[in-house]
Amino acid sequence: MKAYTGRGPAGIRTTGTASSMPDDAGGAIQPKRQASDQLKRIDDALRRLETGQFGHCLYCGDPISVARLDHDPTSESCGACDED
Ligand SMILES: [Zn+2]
Repeated sequence: MKAYTGRGPAGIRTTGTASSMPDDAGGAIQPKRQASDQLKRIDDALRRLETGQFGHCLYCGDPISVARLDHDPTSESCGACDED
């Protein structure tokens, strides 16, 4: 039985995987702006966790519903105050 090293196809596949990563990142629609905005929201949420304000509306102080936090843990306002 001949041992298969897989050198040829494996080498090509490895190169293809490495080169496909930048393509995936570039294909997304404006990922940087949304990512930095989300990071800021998460950072703010973590700060509220530390100060014990997490889960409370920044505007009226009422508790934010669990369903709302489940949908968006970084939410900083209750449903009533979120209406624009
Ligand atoms: Zn509110």
